[in-house]
Amino acid sequence: MSHYDLIVLGAGSGNMLPGDDLRHLRTAIVEPDRFGGTCLNRGCIPTKMSVVAAEAASNARAAARLGVHATVETVNWKEIRDRIFGRIDPLHDKALAYRRENGIDVYTEPARFVAPKTLLVGSEQLTADTIVVAAGSRPKLPPIPGLSDVPYHTSDTVMRIDEIPPSILIVGGGFIAAEFGHVFASFGSRVTIVQSGPRLLMAEDEQVSAAFTEAAAQRHRLFLEAQVSVVRPDGGAGITATVAGPAGEVDVHADLLLICTGRRPNTDLIDATAGGLTLDEHGHVITDEAYRTGVPGVWALGDVTNHFQLKHMANAEVRVVAHNLQHPGAERGLTSRVAPHAVFTEPQIASVGLTEQDARARGVEHVVALRRYSDTAYGWALEDTTGFAKLLVDPTARTLLGAHIFGPHAAILIQPLIQAMSLGQTVDQVARDVLYIHPALTELIEQALLDVPHPASAPQT
Ligand SMILES: Cc1cc2nc3c(=O)[nH]c(=O)nc-3n(C[C@H](O)[C@H](O)[C@H](O)COP(=O)(O)OP(=O)(O)OC[C@H]3O[C@@H](n4cnc5c(N)ncnc54)[C@H](O)[C@@H]3O)c2cc1C
Repeated sequence: MSHYDLIVLGAGSGNMLPGDDLRHLRTAIVEPDRFGGTCLNRGCIPTKMSVVAAEAASNARAAARLGVHATVETVNWKEIRDRIFGRIDPLHDKALAYRRENGIDVYTEPARFVAPKTLLVGSEQLTADTIVVAAGSRPKLPPIPGLSDVPYHTSDTVMRIDEIPPSILIVGGGFIAAEFGHVFASFGSRVTIVQSGPRLLMAEDEQVSAAFTEAAAQRHRLFLEAQVSVVRPDGGAGITATVAGPAGEVDVHADLLLICTGRRPNTDLIDATAGGLTLDEHGHVITDEAYRTGVPGVWALGDVTNHFQLKHMANAEVRVVAHNLQHPGAERGLTSRVAPHAVFTEPQIASVGLTEQDARARGVEHVVALRRYSDTAYGWALEDTTGFAKLLVDPTARTLLGAHIFGPHAAILIQPLIQAMSLGQTVDQVARDVLYIHPALTELIEQALLDVPHPASAPQT
């Protein structure tokens, strides 16, 4: 039995916790997989490195609209994959060595609670005054009959394959499905997506979700309001799935099956309830605003506790927990409750705050402004025909309730709106008290802000 001042469970975002300010604590980190966790090894970073390569291919093909007639000769997948993981993979060894050299004990077997504040790691029991649970989440598998008898991938494995498959069947219609659909279609795969809902990206604003579904339907074979009712080996390396939808049952063959049906927190793997932690109906650890669990001295952060599944949220939570560990009695929560996100598809999508359907459902009074990329000079340069920025605004306070951008560079364009929401600036301030570079794409934001209806216009609910 070893006792520590601090044990961190999980070296994804959790690895950022033991900094200089906590150096005086006798600390252990438990990480059974790779330092850097999901974001670095199998999430945000490798997907976005793949997306940039995908965009190089798809932009070349799409350049004909600008009068540039290019062809993509070859996509060398192994070169793309090895560039990505050649950069990422060495970081694990370096991070682990760095921690050990700096006096932190690193355990490389999975931990699970056997009692409150008591962990079993391999055959060793560890206890600590303070435990930070940052054990993350993992792909959730749907109960598709036959799934265990066929080869399939999840986001954990698909970026390390050896060849681009000629065809791929993606089950799921959320952001991970959308990003991989974009990547594999850009590299030449025929992509089929089976989605149980009526549109893709159902969590987005309904107008964005509808526009994206329309764009995706032009690139991929889409089955909406459909389920894979059974999947079987096709006799070779691929699979055949029976897809049941409104038009009946269809057999779809694919060389690769990719399951993207959501993620679940790893609270079962760490036996969180044996540690006295209370879970919500989705299995997330319940904490208070300061990220304290119900067990004094045990904290939780990241995907294991929040529903956002966003790395920037997990990073912000690490900073909060680090502060709170050093300031007992003066704990704080997140400074901003504004949680933006982006989907790196084609077109790109970025969003913050309320969607229009949320505002309606909650009866939140709002006005809407919508500006199209094609109304701006840079939109002309891009020859964009589908992009838009949509703002939801409180008609009385004239502050932003939500912002949704569908089109090139959305993830960058939304930043001044995130800032305005976080700082409580009015749309009029952000529109008029700031100069926007002409003719940059940020003029889209300026024009959308200037378009926000004035008090005389009737609010919508
Ligand atoms: C394909 C994909 C793309 C994504 N893209 C984005 C994006 O563009 N932007 C964005 O903001 N977010 C993105 N995310 C989400 C983001 O990766 C996560 O929100 C973030 O990594 C969560 O960090 P975490 O520290 O909570 O969990 P993790 O990074 O998963 O870290 C948890 C760690 O705990 C370890 N662990 C598990 N079980 C145990 C155990 N029993 N004992 C000890 N340790 C354990 C795990 O091995 C892991 O290393 C993406 C996710 C995926 C899957």
